[in-house]
Amino acid sequence: MTVTGKVVVITGGARGIGLATATTLHKLGAKVAIGDVDEAKLKESATELGLQVYGKLDVTDSDSFTAFLDDVERQLGPVDVLVNNAGIMPAGKVIEESDAVTKRILDINVYGVILGSKIAAQRMVKRGSGHVINIASLAGETPTPGLATYCASKFAVVGFTDSARIEYRDTGVHFSTVLPTFTNTELVSGTQGAKGLKNAEPEDIANAIVSLLEKPRRRVSVTKLAGFLVASQKFMPRAASEYMGKTLGLEHVFLEDVDTEARRAYEERARGITQN
Ligand code: NAD
Repeated sequence: MTVTGKVVVITGGARGIGLATATTLHKLGAKVAIGDVDEAKLKESATELGLQVYGKLDVTDSDSFTAFLDDVERQLGPVDVLVNNAGIMPAGKVIEESDAVTKRILDINVYGVILGSKIAAQRMVKRGSGHVINIASLAGETPTPGLATYCASKFAVVGFTDSARIEYRDTGVHFSTVLPTFTNTELVSGTQGAKGLKNAEPEDIANAIVSLLEKPRRRVSVTKLAGFLVASQKFMPRAASEYMGKTLGLEHVFLEDVDTEARRAYEERARGITQN
């Protein structure tokens, strides 16, 4: 499959990984549409990039998702690819997390991904072609203190996407999971990353998505090294894998080691305290 001319919808496309993916695919000649709850940032990013099709999208609202895909199809044609990228990562101790934040993480990161996958795949299965790409995280395979609910949401995305992949594998519709490591966007502001490992750049995730479109696969981890370390943990005794996590600083990176001032603006946006 070549990317040129494909109609690609990206959720949470106003900034970060979504915007980098939109930029890369737009440059490669795809017909890209981005949706986001943050309308001001969305308009700014779409205008800068020269995208014609963008609009308000709340991934937790079935009507909003359906209306957005309808609008894209009217303007660009049938959706070939949906990248379910919108996601939030409030950090902190789970017993201090409000019920509203717990629900918000699950609504956006899990329910939103399942909704989008269903609405897009219903259309794709009818046509016998399409690709749903769900952005999970290496936290979808690595228990991480300070991110318990986020980890739960990303484990859910991995399980959902792999199940749907098998369910539809003979229909011409592909499902893939992307598992990024720490990636330099606002989502990781005030955090130090894993000790001794470089964070990914949003463009690295965009390139991994391009590679999935060119050759559909079950999953891709970014970076390769971080993906390898996480995969290798499965073959270690539990104590050894937890020791590795400790050595990488993962036990404190989202708790004591957070620069709360540097992270404040992101946390307020992610928790819905500041309006998007
Ligand atoms: P980001 O905060 O830079 O961008 C996320 C975008 O999603 C924002 O523009 C936000 O407005 C939008 N959004 C939030 N709720 C929405 C909703 N209900 N409907 C539509 N849009 C909504 O974050 P990012 O780092 O670019 O993250 C993108 C995805 O990658 C997320 O799913 C995240 O969990 C995942 N991820 C990120 C990292 C990382 O380190 N940055 C690592 C692994 C996975």
